Amino acid sequence: MLDCIFCKIVAGKIPSLKIYENDHVLSFLDIGPLSDGHTLVIPKKHYTVLHEMSDVDLAEIGKALPRIAQAVMAATGTDAYNVLQNNGRTAGQLVDHVHFHIIPRVNDDGLGYRWNAQKYPEGKDKKIQQAIIAELR
Ligand SMILES: [Zn+2]
Repeated sequence: MLDCIFCKIVAGKIPSLKIYENDHVLSFLDIGPLSDGHTLVIPKKHYTVLHEMSDVDLAEIGKALPRIAQAVMAATGTDAYNVLQNNGRTAGQLVDHVHFHIIPRVNDDGLGYRWNAQKYPEGKDKKIQQAIIAELR
């Protein structure tokens, strides 16, 4: 993808502070960190959203994430982090190349997030459950 900033980073056309790299995965520091050590993990191949990814690239990302998260925690002296992965503008995705954020957390860091848990009206949960199951078939 010619205009993709992350593809340019993969190709070395835009510099990045690399953390980890193998044939499938690249990891580097986010240039706009929410906290010290905020790291991105991306597939080297361009995918826009998570559900487009190949099984192989997903497996490689899955193997890399916990390794990198452990290193980020050790290096930043924390034992807490969020993994955040946004798909689509409505979900907050700003770069259209799949990426996973590893965001180290410390007490009172002020980052927070909204988690406005709701309750389903009677029966709606089962309808949604059945609709999702039907889509998986
Ligand atoms: Zn890309």
